[in-house]
Amino acid sequence: HNYGHGAAGITLAFGCAEHAADHVEQAMAGLGATPPAVAVLGTGIAGLTTAWELRKRRPSLPIRIYASSLDLRTTTSWVAGGQFEPSTVWREYRSDAGKAGLFDYLRRSRAKIDALTADHARYGITPRDYFTLDHDIRAIQEFTPHDVIAPYTRGRLPFPALAAPGRHYSTWLLNPMLLLPAIQQELQASGVQFIERHFDSPRDVVALEENIVVNCTGYGARALFGDDRLIGQRGHLLVLDLETVDGLDYLFGGGCENEVISYLFCRQSDLVVGGTFLVGEDEPRLLDADAPAFERIWGNAARVFGGHPETCLAG
Ligand SMILES: Cc1cc2nc3c(=O)[nH]c(=O)nc-3n(C[C@H](O)[C@H](O)[C@H](O)COP(=O)(O)OP(=O)(O)OC[C@H]3O[C@@H](n4cnc5c(N)ncnc54)[C@H](O)[C@@H]3O)c2cc1C
Repeated sequence: HNYGHGAAGITLAFGCAEHAADHVEQAMAGLGATPPAVAVLGTGIAGLTTAWELRKRRPSLPIRIYASSLDLRTTTSWVAGGQFEPSTVWREYRSDAGKAGLFDYLRRSRAKIDALTADHARYGITPRDYFTLDHDIRAIQEFTPHDVIAPYTRGRLPFPALAAPGRHYSTWLLNPMLLLPAIQQELQASGVQFIERHFDSPRDVVALEENIVVNCTGYGARALFGDDRLIGQRGHLLVLDLETVDGLDYLFGGGCENEVISYLFCRQSDLVVGGTFLVGEDEPRLLDADAPAFERIWGNAARVFGGHPETCLAG
């Protein structure tokens, strides 16, 4: 199983894929003389990176990816902002052992990002300055090793109307709209088959002809495997397509001065403005009732960059 990465699935994907591939190798060793074949469930970032890691290790291993829809735009991964930070999920790794595990995922993800430097443009990966107001970001300061994201520097924020004291980190943008298709194309070119199929029960999964299955169904695992520990989390993002991105090469986040969530990510050809974080909600469709949330998100970004981050409105 490789699911349940909360608001940090893009960040943790490469590291968790290595762990998943380690488990697959163990399962293969247990098969003896029986030839292995792997089914990966899900075409989100978890499924794609797991299949990709396996293909890198085993060029001739039969691998199939199954998913309810093969349209990558239907995945949660597609709509993610793509900032590298273990946002919110760090709360689930507070024990010493948990923290060590999270550090390991992050270090492996960081190592993979470094190893892919020559391919960054194709994968939509780019280093980004990350600015916050002058308050603590526990996800980075306490729950990310300093060799993955270096400690912050303090200084005036570099925005005309928001020259308040702030903090600066160096992190990455992993743009899912570029990363997912790039990995999918590579997998297809290397003989990985993609099959559209929805699974209603574990029995359907066990009936697959492959003898090793990696479950990367994300929130779908709640219904498929009856995992009630999975809790839906819904977020609103405004995505603004830009004709030019000159000078827009930073991430801003960490919330307003009054703890309201607000972030703005400059990506390769659009701006992503968030956000909300609605725990326990799992409606995937856009509803008329969502309109006020988008107005508030936009208004809060204007308040922050207009120099009044203390006036942001909560939902
Ligand atoms: C608004 C928002 C912003 C975010 N921003 C960031 C960010 O900046 N950085 C970051 O690291 N993370 C971010 N995240 C979190 C990130 O999007 C998720 O952690 C990640 O996308 C989860 O990926 P996944 O592959 O596990 O699941 P998904 O992307 O949901 O993929 C699940 C796959 O499983 C398939 N599936 C499900 N059920 C079944 C079934 N029964 N049968 C067959 N197939 C099935 C689906 O079709 C899909 O292909 C954000 C999330 C949201 C909502």
